[in-house]
Amino acid sequence: MAKSVPYKIYLTENELPRRWYNIRADMKEQPDPIINPGTGKPLTQEELSGLFCTELAAQEMNHTDAFIDIPKEVQAFYKMFRPSPVVRAYCLEKALGTPAHIYYKFEGSNTSGSHKLNSAAAQVYYAKKQGITHLATETGAGQWGTALSMACGFFDVDLKVYMVKVSAEQKPYRKAVMETFGANVIPSPSDTTEVGRKILQANPGTGGSLGCAISEAIETAMTTENCRYVLGSVLDHVVLHQSVIGLEAKAALEKYDIYPDIIIGCAGGGSNLGGLIVPFVRDKLTGKANPHIIAVEPASCPTMTRGRYAYDFGDLGGTTPLLKMYTLGAGFIPAANHAGGLRYHGMSPIVSKLYHDGLLDEARAVEQTKVFDAATLFAKHEGTLIAPESAHAVRVAIDEAIKCRETGEAKTILFGLSGTGYFDMAAYMDYRSGEMVDFVPSDEDLERGFASLPTV
Ligand SMILES: *Cc1c(COP(=O)(O)O)cnc(C)c1O
Repeated sequence: MAKSVPYKIYLTENELPRRWYNIRADMKEQPDPIINPGTGKPLTQEELSGLFCTELAAQEMNHTDAFIDIPKEVQAFYKMFRPSPVVRAYCLEKALGTPAHIYYKFEGSNTSGSHKLNSAAAQVYYAKKQGITHLATETGAGQWGTALSMACGFFDVDLKVYMVKVSAEQKPYRKAVMETFGANVIPSPSDTTEVGRKILQANPGTGGSLGCAISEAIETAMTTENCRYVLGSVLDHVVLHQSVIGLEAKAALEKYDIYPDIIIGCAGGGSNLGGLIVPFVRDKLTGKANPHIIAVEPASCPTMTRGRYAYDFGDLGGTTPLLKMYTLGAGFIPAANHAGGLRYHGMSPIVSKLYHDGLLDEARAVEQTKVFDAATLFAKHEGTLIAPESAHAVRVAIDEAIKCRETGEAKTILFGLSGTGYFDMAAYMDYRSGEMVDFVPSDEDLERGFASLPTV
C-alpha cells in the first residue's frame, strides 16, 4: 500500500536545502557565453563585477561546482518563510473529475507574495557582505521590487526601484509596500536618467516596459557611488538561487515515493520555472528519469514559442551585455492591455539552452482570458487567489489533467505556483466584466521586434 499523501507536504527545518544546485556543472553543452557588446568577446568576470557584486558575478560564471553552499545568513532569512509547501490539489482533482494526481509547489506564502524573495535574500546578502551600500533595480508587475525591498530592509541596504509606469499606476499598494520596507520607487520611464529622458522624448505617452526600466536602473547603478545593479530573473545566478524551489519540491515528494510525470511552470524571465525544473533535468541528464517538462508563456509575449534563439540585449536601451537566449527582440513592447505579467522579451539563457537541446520538452503559449478562467477555477476549488503569472501554469496543469480524464491515465502532475494575486485585482475585475481581450501579436508585430536584434 502506498502511503496516503496529506494535503500539504512540508520539509522540516532540518531537511531544508543547505546548498543550491548549479545545473551548468552537469550540462553536457554549456549555454553560449555572455558577450561584451563593446569588444565582441566573451565577458570576463571582472567586467561583470562592475555591474553586479563580485560573488554574484562569480556565480554567474560558475560552470564547475554543481552545488554551492547557501550562506548561513541566507539560510536564516529563508527560515522566516521557508519551507514552502508542496500541496496536493485534491479539491481541484475532484472538481475536474480527473484521475491525475496534481501537486503544486506554493511560493506565495511570504509578504512579497512570490518566489522572488529566494534570490533577493541572496543577492542583498552578498552585496552587504561586500560593503555595497546602494542597489538599483527595475520591477514590472512589482513582485521583484517588493521582494528586494524586503531583503534590503532586512540587511539595511539603500534601494532604488524603477517601476514600469503602467504597473506603478495600476498598483499603488505595491508601491506603498516597497516604501514601507524603505525603498525609493520611481515610475519608469522617468526624467531621473539620461536613457529615461531619451525614451520619454521619443515616446511621450509610453507606459514603459521592463526593458526600459532596466536601462534606467543600470544607468543609476553605474553613476552612483558604491552602487550595484540587481536583477530578479533571467540570469544564471538567479536560476541558481531559485533551485531551492525544485530541491525542496523533489525532497518533499520523495518522502512519499512520488515522482512527477509532467512538470509545468510559467515562464517570464525563466527563474521560477528554471528553479523548479533543474533538479529534475539533472535526472534526465543522468538517465535516472524522464519527466515531461512544459514551459508556459502568454500568447501576447510568445518568447519561446515564436521567438528567435539569438544574442540580444537585456534592455531596450542596449546597455546590458549580450545574452544568447530565446527573444522577441529588446525592441518588442508587449500590448498594453496584457495583464498577466511575463512581459519580458527574453528568456533565461539556461532555460533557453535546455529548451533548444530538448531537455525542456515543450513550450506552450496561452491566451489571457483562458488564464483567468483557470485562476478563477483554482481560487474556487483550492482556496488560493493566485498571481496571473502563476495562472499560466495552472491553465496547462488543468489542460493536462483534463486530458487524463479523457484517456483514464492517472499521471502525476507537478506545477510551480509562483505567487499570489492580491495586487492584481484590477486584472481580475477586467476579466469578470468582460473587458479583458486576448491579444496575439501578428507576424509583422514580431518582425518589428526582431528588427531590433543586434548583429553579433
Ligand atoms: C516575476 C514572476 C514570475 C515570472 O518570472 P520568472 O523569472 O519567469 O519566474 C512568475 N510568477 C510570479 C508570481 C512572479 O512574481
